[in-house]
Parts: sequence; C-alpha cells; structure tokens
Amino acid sequence: MKTIEDLDVAGRRVFVRADLNVPLSDGTITDDGRIRAVAPTIAKLVERGARVVVASHLGRPKGEPDPQFSLAPVAARLGEILGRPVAFATDTVGESAKATVAALADGEVTLLENLRFNAGETSKDDAERGAFADELAGLADLYVGDGFGAVHRKHASVFDLPARLPHAVGDLIATEVGVLKRLTEEVERPYVVVLGGSKVSDKVGVIDNLLGKADRILIGGGMAFTFLKAKGYEVGSSLLQEDQIPTVLDYLKRGEENGVEFVLPVDVAVSGSFPDVRTQAPVEDFAVVADDAIPAGTLGLDIGPRSGALFAEKLADAKTVFWNGPMGVFEHPAFADGTRAVTQALIDSDGFTVVGGGDSAAAVRILGFDETKFGHISTGGGASLEYLEGKTLPGLAALEG
Ligand code: ADP
Ligand code: MG
Repeated sequence: MKTIEDLDVAGRRVFVRADLNVPLSDGTITDDGRIRAVAPTIAKLVERGARVVVASHLGRPKGEPDPQFSLAPVAARLGEILGRPVAFATDTVGESAKATVAALADGEVTLLENLRFNAGETSKDDAERGAFADELAGLADLYVGDGFGAVHRKHASVFDLPARLPHAVGDLIATEVGVLKRLTEEVERPYVVVLGGSKVSDKVGVIDNLLGKADRILIGGGMAFTFLKAKGYEVGSSLLQEDQIPTVLDYLKRGEENGVEFVLPVDVAVSGSFPDVRTQAPVEDFAVVADDAIPAGTLGLDIGPRSGALFAEKLADAKTVFWNGPMGVFEHPAFADGTRAVTQALIDSDGFTVVGGGDSAAAVRILGFDETKFGHISTGGGASLEYLEGKTLPGLAALEG
C-alpha cells in the first residue's frame, strides 16, 4: 500500500475519505474522537500544499438529504481542531460541492455534506455505486483512504472511488491495521477478549475466529442475555437473539474443547424500562439480581457488581486485551458501573490493551478516563471485528496496489 508520503499532493485536489460519524445530541457533538483521529492526516496534506476535499457519512440517512444527519457541526469542529477554516459544501456532488472545491487554494480544506445523502453511496448495485463514484472522482485528482470505521463497507466512496484515482492509505488506517496485526499475529498471552454492546448479531460472528486465538472471552452488554438464555436461564425482556442460541451453544462447546474460557455475568442490573439517557432521570426500580433470577418483565441493562469484579479478575494477568462493546447502558449513570469496571481493569493491566467500537471509545472518554492509558483506542468497531473475523475488508482491498 502506498502512504501519503508517496503521493505528490502539492496543488492537487486530494479526496480524503474520513470517518466523521460522531455521536450527536440535538446537533451537538458529544464525542469528537473520530474527528481528532483523522486530523493529523488532513494537517499533513495541508502542510504539503494539497487542496483537501474531506468526505464522510454520518448516521444512517435514507439516501436523500436529512438535516438531522448534516455534517455542518462537524465542519465547524474540524476547523477548530485544525486551527483553520473548513469550507462546508451543502451537497456531495452538486453545485455547492463543485463550487467549493473549485474555490480551494493550495493548503485549504473543504468538507462535503453527508455522502449517504446520495443513494449511490451505499447501493448494492455496482452500476449505481459506480456512477456516484464517477461523480466524486470528478472532484479530485488523488484519493486518500483514512475512514477506518467504514473500511468494512463496500460503499462508493470506500470501495469504488479509489479504483478511479491514484490512491494511498492515510495515517489513521495505517495505525489501525498495525494494531490489528498485533491482535492476530504472534499474540502475547494470556489474550483476553471482552465483548458487549447492543449489536448482538454483528458481534457473535467474531467469536468463531477468536475460538482459535483467545484464551478467555468475557461476555457482557446485550449479547450476554443470549448466552444466559442458551444456558437455560430466563432473561425477562432483555435484548435477546433467539435465532443465535444454537450458534452460542456451539461456541460454548467448542470453547470447552479448545480450552477457551467463556466468562458470563454472574449478576445483572435490571429495571422495568429502558432508562431515559437524555434527562438522566433516576431509575426508581433499579435492582441487582443473580444471572439465573432475572424477573419477568425486567430488562438487564448492565452487568452487576460481582460480575464487574469477576471480569476485572479475568483481565488482571492479560498480556493482550481486545474490548468491543460497553457492558451496559453506560449513557445512564445507573448502568455505567460495569463498563467502568472493565475500563479500570484495562487501565490496571500491564498488557497491550485495545478498545474498539464507537460507543466503547466514547464510553471511555465520557466516563472520564485518560485515553493515553490504553494501548490503542480504535475508531472502528465493525471494521475491527470484521478484520478479527478474518474477512477481507473492501476498503482495505481497494487501497492495495
Ligand atoms: P460499539 O459502538 O462500541 O461497537 P455497540 O454499538 O454495539 O458498541 O453498542 C453500544 C450500545 O450498547 C450503547 O449505546 C449501550 O447503551 C448499549 N448496551 C449495552 N448493554 C446493553 C444492554 N444490556 N441492553 C441494551 N443496550 C445495551
Ligand atoms: Mg456503536
């Protein structure tokens, strides 16, 4: 793969596919980690006199403009971080984009509006994606792939566009891939993997590959309930993927055969309803129950304190840790303790610790932990997981050669 040092960028229009998909609350960025992560690549291009055209998706709009997913607040924040103005184009390949790019002087930066406001970006139809990529290609001379959080997507700006322009890998992706190699080749043991979060089906698949690599797999968050149910426990109204139960049973069996220890929560924090994370209203019916005693009609929203201590113990001697997915609904203080316990355990460990996943990374910062205490905080959860699953990532494949 070529790096940006291999490109002659001075005076050229350089398209930077970034991942600026940050969490927003009422138009305010609640965690700017992904913007800060790609800023060094942009700054480097600026210094070398490139005309930088930054593009990203944000959220999941339906292929047409939708103001709640506008990147406008991100343009402002990116400008603050770079310490220079960032011109914002109010469309992706329309009049505004063309005019804004044409007006760029050497060393100036523009951000295009959300790529997913155009149906071609995510289309499954190669021709439709290709047509959008052609239009994007008209805006630039060179392509830099640095949106690590999107490299597992076969999208126009990630997969089709680099085929149309001389391209290189940005510094963020280069760093991320270096870390993932450390998690897959010659791993230092014990290797402990912690999985949680809410996207259960997305994450169950990675276990397959980890069964041949990890020494221990700790399961919290929403996916824990599919495991507990597989063990025959009732899980009330908790997140549950019934269709994954046979898969989970197979994993547990293979874990036993391969000497991979699965660690499940032994207690759970529950409530009768999902907490209001916006108002942070106190949870009146908060309770901690044993893993086999979740009352009907309640939802498990965090691992309990005994589980937090157990997970910490299982992490204490780790030499390599990969963690993806919060242990509970950490956005509400009543259900943040499990995530806090795991975060603290990673900090206390003297191993190489990697946090992957947008929400997991945000949790670390929102709970007030020092980011520098981790080996690496990845900007891409889905991308990291698919890499660890052993899959070919379209956005990385496109940057080869
Ligand atoms: P990441 O972005 O780190 O990959 P996910 O997107 O999979 O993580 O999941 C993050 C979300 O999971 C958080 O918003 C959190 O509130 C939610 N979550 C964690 N535990 C539970 C649970 N037991 N029930 C419902 N949601 C949960
Ligand atoms: Mg997430």
